[in-house]
Amino acid sequence: MSKRIIAIDGPSASGKSTVSRRVAEELGFCCVDSGALYRGVTWLCLRACPKRLDAKGVLGALARVRPEFFLDARAVRFTLDGLDPWPELRSEAVVEHVSAVAAIPGVREWVVERLRGMTVFGDLVMEGRDIGSVVFPGADFKFYLDADESERARRRLLENAAADLSSVKSSISRRDRIDSTRKAAPLRVAEGACVIDTTGLGVEDVVRIILDKVRAGGFQ
Ligand code: C5P
Repeated sequence: MSKRIIAIDGPSASGKSTVSRRVAEELGFCCVDSGALYRGVTWLCLRACPKRLDAKGVLGALARVRPEFFLDARAVRFTLDGLDPWPELRSEAVVEHVSAVAAIPGVREWVVERLRGMTVFGDLVMEGRDIGSVVFPGADFKFYLDADESERARRRLLENAAADLSSVKSSISRRDRIDSTRKAAPLRVAEGACVIDTTGLGVEDVVRIILDKVRAGGFQ
C-alpha cells in the first residue's frame, strides 16, 4: 500500500519542526526533518574536507559515507559512518555553511533519494523547503508555513538565549536568500500548497488548522 505523505515547507524558523512533530503525533505518522539531513551532510564535510567545501570535495565525501536511518520516538534519525551528528547540527559552523552545501545539485540528488526512501518507515509528515515541489510533488497534503521575519527571529532567539537579535536576523535572512535564489529546487510555495501565515498564531493554532484540513480530506 502506498504511504500517506504530508509535506510541510517554509523558510527558516517558520515553526515547521514543532508543528510537524505535533501533527505527526496526532495522526500517528512518522516525522522527518529534511533540513537535519542537509545539516548532517554539512557536518560530515566540515569533518572530512574542511578546506574543500566546494562541490568536488563535498560530493567526494558523500560518495564514501555510509548513512543509516532509524526511528527514534517516531522521528526518523540517522548516523553517518556510525557517528551521531545530532548534537552538532545546530552549531555555528553547520549553520554558516548548510545553505551553500544544500545548493549543490549533487547533494540535493543524494538527499532527495534518501528522503523518498523513508516511506519504509510508514506514513510521513516531512518538513523542509522542497518537499511539496520536488521530493513528493504528489503528496496527499501540502502546507507552506510563513511568518514575518522579525517574528521568526524572535522565535529563534527563544530557542537560543545566548544569541543576539540582530545576528539571528541576519543569519535567517542570509539563509532565506540563498535558499530562495539557488538554481536547484529553490524555496517556493509548491503547486496546490495551502499557505499559512503563522505570525501571531501559536503552535497549537497552526496544528489545528492543518489537522482540520487533513481530517476533512479523509485522514484520521
Ligand atoms: O530546516 P533547516 O533550517 O534545518 O534547514 C537547514 C538548511 O537546509 C536550509 O537553510 C536549507 O539550506 C537546507 N534545506 C533545503 N531543503 C530542504 C530542507 C533544508 O535546502 N528540504
